[in-house]
Amino acid sequence: MPSIKEPIVERNIWVIIESLNGEVQEISFTLLAAGRRLANAFGTRLQALCLSGEEVAFGGQLGVADEIVVMQDPTLAGFNPGSWNRSLKALFDAEPPRAVILGQTTIGSDLCGFLAEHLQLPVVSSCHQVLEGEAQAEYRSLFAGGKVYADGPLPSQGFVLSMIPGGVQAEEGKVEKEVPVRTFPVPAPDADAEKIRFLGFLEPEAGDVDIAKEEILVAVGRGIQQENNLVLANELAKALGGEVCASRPVVDQGWLPTTRLVGKSGKQVKPRLYLSLGISGAPEHLEGIQKPELFIAVNTDEGAPIFEAADYGASVDLLELMPRLTEKLLVPS
Ligand SMILES: Cc1cc2nc3c(=O)[nH]c(=O)nc-3n(C[C@H](O)[C@H](O)[C@H](O)COP(=O)(O)OP(=O)(O)OC[C@H]3O[C@@H](n4cnc5c(N)ncnc54)[C@H](O)[C@@H]3O)c2cc1C
Repeated sequence: MPSIKEPIVERNIWVIIESLNGEVQEISFTLLAAGRRLANAFGTRLQALCLSGEEVAFGGQLGVADEIVVMQDPTLAGFNPGSWNRSLKALFDAEPPRAVILGQTTIGSDLCGFLAEHLQLPVVSSCHQVLEGEAQAEYRSLFAGGKVYADGPLPSQGFVLSMIPGGVQAEEGKVEKEVPVRTFPVPAPDADAEKIRFLGFLEPEAGDVDIAKEEILVAVGRGIQQENNLVLANELAKALGGEVCASRPVVDQGWLPTTRLVGKSGKQVKPRLYLSLGISGAPEHLEGIQKPELFIAVNTDEGAPIFEAADYGASVDLLELMPRLTEKLLVPS
């Protein structure tokens, strides 16, 4: 356990940046935005921490942080939990944090338990929103695909915050400004280091269409109801000059191949237009969407979390909307 060397109020807020192939991932900006709000509320500094096996292109985009701390070493490549835990332990033993913010992603979920145990801090999971609050900083967590939420004050003794996308907007965390960069030494591998080794990163198959490269995507979810209705989505996508992709239930039913899946277990997409039809907005789905220029959501449930992530929303029946929209698009102007 780290020794307590200073009053907790002087400790900093740390955000664990996620990168892939040297590029900062979208979730990192949501974490930075939340971190900035909390650093302001607590009157502490915001530290962006980047562990990686290769050089990461920050491109001056992490300007919302007060400092970037880099731990770079081949043993950290591709996320090796043993090496990452050992490195985080070395850093946080030397510089105990007030709070650590990470994504509720594959990497973040793996680190969360270790950090909470090592730092002896409580975890606030599935956090969707943080508010500075008048008296105390507060969180809102979403569960059951956004149908249940929990609000509360953030624990005053410090915390590990595991965040889902969709609530705090990533744009708020993207600030172009150069900030000081410091390196922290990566500890030498121990006897356990060889037990888990990173062998390589497998890209999902592109399939007939590579949705990761498409500029216009019509995304269908369970709200499409039947496989037969996919023809309407395909016609709409064609009229828009785009392609159809899907949430997991549609792929699990075998109505579309896994190459069309967006999200945690599928592809990361970054289209200009993302038109989501009958998708509730679960964090595992939103994790696959890098901020599109225009995000439109259609869902009969006005309270669906997808509306918080979207720029525009319509609470209408997608089965009525799709043929009408296609018809309008095909009328020569
Ligand atoms: C480890 C793990 C990994 C996962 N990976 C992924 C992933 O990569 N991608 C992914 O998508 N999910 C993933 N999931 C599943 C995810 O948690 C959700 O269950 C899933 O995204 C829900 O899909 P959905 O929004 O289509 O369905 P639902 O949550 O059932 O939502 C359907 C929505 O359709 C609306 N609707 C119904 N009828 C209509 C209508 N006629 N018109 C308009 N709206 C209508 C409803 O109001 C509802 O909001 C993963 C889960 C786990 C645990």
